[in-house]
Amino acid sequence: MQLEINNLNKQYGNGVHALKDVSLTIGKGMFGLLGPNGAGKSSLMRTLATLQDADSGNVRLGDIDVLNEKDKVRQVLGYLPQEFGVYPRSSAVELLDHLALLKGVKNTGERKALVNYLLQKVNLFEHRKKAVKSFSGGMRQRFGIAQCLIGNPKLIIVDEPTAGLDPGERNRFYNLLSEIGEEAILILSTHIVQDVRELCTQMAIMNKGEVLYHGGVDQALELI
Ligand code: ADP
Ligand code: ADP
Repeated sequence: MQLEINNLNKQYGNGVHALKDVSLTIGKGMFGLLGPNGAGKSSLMRTLATLQDADSGNVRLGDIDVLNEKDKVRQVLGYLPQEFGVYPRSSAVELLDHLALLKGVKNTGERKALVNYLLQKVNLFEHRKKAVKSFSGGMRQRFGIAQCLIGNPKLIIVDEPTAGLDPGERNRFYNLLSEIGEEAILILSTHIVQDVRELCTQMAIMNKGEVLYHGGVDQALELI
């Protein structure tokens, strides 16, 4: 399955042209979207995650028309937003269980198994009964990954995940991402060159709403 983005445009009410004819083809594996603040990365990620409309263009994920079949996209999407800012009092296990229920895992035993599997995968099993509110930044990011893996997504969008993480946390997070990136199309949006260098083989560079480069990571990073 491929994600094909064709001539996407978005202009906000304030006149900012955040996406200018953005076209990208993205296959399975980890794809890095690199660019400074204001480049348009989040605008693109939110559009792909069906949270915002584009003005024109089209996007296909396999046979799904992404801009017009939002419900279908949401069934195969995992999204870790830049500001994953709701830190509820509920425990990690309660919250994941609830989300799995919302995603349609109705059987209690099945849900329990899934939640335990995810908590182990992101290395939070021993903290499962603690409130997500009490988690450190790195723990929250790992919890965000567990959340975004519910439902076995085919498209995973991770927006600026390593900002604010210390080097140890960042490495743990990298390991986790590379593991899940093998199974899906994973787009990692970041302004940190090291994120892309360590994790991705294909990438794009955006600035001021435009794609300046689209291709291999090795070739691009030689230029920097
Ligand atoms: P649209 O034209 O897509 O409806 P708007 O310009 O109306 O977008 O803005 C949508 C929301 O984003 C508003 O709540 C606005 O306050 C907020 N917003 C405005 N400017 C910015 C900005 N520079 N960065 C992030 N959010 C912004
Ligand atoms: P990045 O994620 O690369 O930092 P964004 O997509 O957040 O880029 O922003 C691209 C441009 O669009 C910026 O100039 C930003 O201020 C503007 N912008 C983002 N969201 C909104 C919004 N909701 N309303 C108005 N302007 C916005």
